[in-house]
Amino acid sequence: METPDKEKPAKARGPRPRRRRWPLLAVTITAALALGTLGVHRLAGSRTYQLAGDLTDRVETREKVVALTFDDGPDEHISEIVGTLAGEHVRATFFVIGSQLEVHPEYGATLVAAGHQLGNHTYTHRRMVFVSPDTVAAEVERTNTLIRETGQEGDIPFRPPNGKKLLTLPLHLAEHRQRTVMWDVEPDSGARPTPAEIVTMVREQARPGSIILLHPWYPTGRNTREAITPLIEGLRADGYRFVTIAELLAR
Ligand SMILES: [Zn+2]
Repeated sequence: METPDKEKPAKARGPRPRRRRWPLLAVTITAALALGTLGVHRLAGSRTYQLAGDLTDRVETREKVVALTFDDGPDEHISEIVGTLAGEHVRATFFVIGSQLEVHPEYGATLVAAGHQLGNHTYTHRRMVFVSPDTVAAEVERTNTLIRETGQEGDIPFRPPNGKKLLTLPLHLAEHRQRTVMWDVEPDSGARPTPAEIVTMVREQARPGSIILLHPWYPTGRNTREAITPLIEGLRADGYRFVTIAELLAR
């Protein structure tokens, strides 16, 4: 038979343990910070919205036109890429990194001479969030100057590295009337897809007025470089024509 509880020896009564409460203020602050961080993160990475200035992620049109846009570079793969596009009679838009263009201005001149458009992808490809106005001005204006020196005329579209922008960057672009150009089709940004997967994804996702983001430079861009020709031929079979960002925005 079990000993009834009441017969257990009474515990020595110490000081009453302090009751644990969630410190309400701390929780509220943490939640607000988390929400705020999430909101800021989403805002900074939005493809379709920024706090100031003009942003385009695609153009509303019934015409079956798309713009191919190539980010980063330029590097020694220039002749392969320019040759591939020339073989298909396609002109595209290249969002180049100023520091790389500065080392090889002839690459930029080659692109412009071939009828392609250059866009600004900052000078160092740094993350353009929580950056000072001076940093923004240096990253953007130095690259604009280098692009102008290639002989390019007309507006220079801007695309932030990794699509990230928050406040100082959009304010600078708005003040200087420089448009942010994002994208709505992004086949090679995630796990490294095969050329065939890139082509399939683009053909599935492209719509009239789409802006297609591709990364053809560096050794890592090999699958993308191999996808360019079949991608163009596939989209042509679907009825599409290719235009630069300037031509797309003029619609
Ligand atoms: Zn980039």
